[in-house]
Amino acid sequence: MYKIMTPGPTQVLENVRRARSLACTNPDLDESFYDFYKETCTLISRLLKTGNETLILGGEGILGLEAACASLTEPGDKVLVLDNGIYGRGFADFVTMYGGVPELYHADCRNTLDVAALSDYLKEHHDYAYATVVHCDTPSGVLNDIGSICPLLKQYGILTVVDSVSGMFGEEVRVDDFKIDLLCGGSQKAVSAPPGLTFVVVSDDAKEKIKTRKTPIASFYANLAVFEGYYEKKWFPYTMPISDIYGLRAAFDNIAADKDLYARHKRIGTATRAALGEAGLRLHLDSGFSDTVTVFDVPRGATADAILKRMKDRHGILLAGSFDELAGKVIRIGHMGTNASFENMLATMEALSETLTHFGVPLEGNLADLFLKHYRPTVSE
Ligand SMILES: *Cc1c(COP(=O)(O)O)cnc(C)c1O
Repeated sequence: MYKIMTPGPTQVLENVRRARSLACTNPDLDESFYDFYKETCTLISRLLKTGNETLILGGEGILGLEAACASLTEPGDKVLVLDNGIYGRGFADFVTMYGGVPELYHADCRNTLDVAALSDYLKEHHDYAYATVVHCDTPSGVLNDIGSICPLLKQYGILTVVDSVSGMFGEEVRVDDFKIDLLCGGSQKAVSAPPGLTFVVVSDDAKEKIKTRKTPIASFYANLAVFEGYYEKKWFPYTMPISDIYGLRAAFDNIAADKDLYARHKRIGTATRAALGEAGLRLHLDSGFSDTVTVFDVPRGATADAILKRMKDRHGILLAGSFDELAGKVIRIGHMGTNASFENMLATMEALSETLTHFGVPLEGNLADLFLKHYRPTVSE
């Protein structure tokens, strides 16, 4: 068994695994399952600080993104796609697929999106049906300030679709304060349940736009409107993956009970970045560091594949490389959800120090020592 330290999927606690093995009922016919589903959705909404409705969909994180675009996009709609990362620009594909016209707003991929520059741009260009933005663009780890970006877009009446699959529950998301219309999450990142589920939090404005469409939604599985009235009608559009949802609920109960959630991610993220930096490694980003993932450039003398292989084979720890234009160029340490513990990070730093030293990468000190030096424990630790 490897210690999973990737930016998703993440480590799954035993109580979540056990919840997935509970006895199954027929989720279409047993009315108590409708209550369980709805209570779980309400819990997710509460944890995301909103009264907006959450819908859990049976499919991976990608389904949530596609469902948001499929449900909102009408043929010919102009959509602003904020792009400072691989997932950011990826939204353009979903927009196009459902007949929309994406307009990409390119920004520097090594920095958090410049909100002032976007504000200037919007003064001249604001004729959009909606906009898409990624909270934490996981391949580079860049974190965008959705708390400023979404209210700014909303001033122009532009609805927002936010992908916070790898941000939420490691970085705080307050849906109402941030004025987010469609927020997409997934089970396998900071939530720390196994892959397989996505959830979408839907505002009244988004519901209104969906309801007043002139054209039908060109999908069934990615159609958020098919959930309309499911609870009253006791009818799901398709059979819900009951065991996955039992596990998801246990994972959210863990999150609800964790008073230290955001502070813990902050402590781990801060100490990890400080340790790598002081050791002389190059953090991939100049700004916009997420407390869910740390990304560093592959140092001279080593290759991403060799580092990942030694971490896995010698130390039993899974780190991640990246993809597209970042393939082979960076290493990613996922410290989100259950991964984000002092013990996990200390072991990872110790192993990474050995691995890099093995490949002749000069380090200004042992990474685990540097991590300890920069780690600010709370009183209870
Ligand atoms: C993981 C992730 C997703 C979902 O991707 P899957 O392939 O379904 O896991 C979506 N957006 C971001 C930013 C992610 O990190």
